[in-house]
Amino acid sequence: LDGVSRRFTVRRGWFGEQRELTAVDGVSLGLRRGESLGLVGESGCGKSTLGRLVCGLLAPSAGRVLLEGRALPPAGADSWAAGRIQMVFQDPFSSLNPRLSVRASVAEPLAARSMPRAERRRLADEMLATVGLKGVGGRYPHEFSGGQRQRIAVARALVTSPDVIVCDEPVSALDASVQAQVLNLLCDVQERFSPAYLFISHDLAVVGFICPRIMVMYLGQVVEEAPRERLFAGAAHPYSQALLAAMPTGMAGERGVESLPQALEGELPSPLKPPSGCRFHPRCPKAVEICRREAPAWKDLAPGWRARCHLL
Ligand code: SF4
Ligand code: MG
Repeated sequence: LDGVSRRFTVRRGWFGEQRELTAVDGVSLGLRRGESLGLVGESGCGKSTLGRLVCGLLAPSAGRVLLEGRALPPAGADSWAAGRIQMVFQDPFSSLNPRLSVRASVAEPLAARSMPRAERRRLADEMLATVGLKGVGGRYPHEFSGGQRQRIAVARALVTSPDVIVCDEPVSALDASVQAQVLNLLCDVQERFSPAYLFISHDLAVVGFICPRIMVMYLGQVVEEAPRERLFAGAAHPYSQALLAAMPTGMAGERGVESLPQALEGELPSPLKPPSGCRFHPRCPKAVEICRREAPAWKDLAPGWRARCHLL
């Protein structure tokens, strides 16, 4: 992604004034083959919009999304990029068509390929077996639990041998005991097939489990980018610090975050009227005078580690 922004026009009521909302604001990031990049932030910060831009489900208002140096065309069966970037969504109950057998659902992304039907079915069954669901291709989504449905969604994402899989909160709708199974499955899948993951979650612990590199997003902008170990040992940006402090103590406590600010106070401001200067300033415990007036620039802290904050 090269300076990618996405704006939406929203209207209040039928005759209300139209306003522009910038859901993603000037995001640049690179994803290498076989890599896992985590994207973390509160709900409403633009993470899902970013995921949809990466998949070509949304077009950027500004900037470019490139796959191997070529501009990504809009998602469509006939494009050269079809099937190369897949998505696993948050809700395993609505992401599968209840009227299709799971085999048909898993085979669906192959529809555009000139491939005999029997071959598509065979590949779908093979992918179902890969995710631990052998011999169930003829059954329907309602016969499966949430964790199993998410396995089916992973099988469907894998069936085209994609280069990139965008996982948008893939375990947030699942019970804690099932979350670990699905996360382990995603790790296994990556070892076997090496897709790159863009892994989106509001939960830093989940992102840290999967991703060696993490980006923290706030109100449409990336505010810190760091190797996982750096971030957990001591994040640079006050917002990242607050996310760490809000993690369950079993995980954060071991990493010595006692001196960090308490869990975040206040609501995420509306992206319709983002705060001036540093967008985090109304909630930042460390804000100083300049924060209200000027947006902080990127500051490089170490190789692969940078953040945007006036205090750095
Ligand atoms: Fe806080 Fe100011 Fe840094 Fe923004 S720039 S994170 S308001 S200290
Ligand atoms: Mg979301």
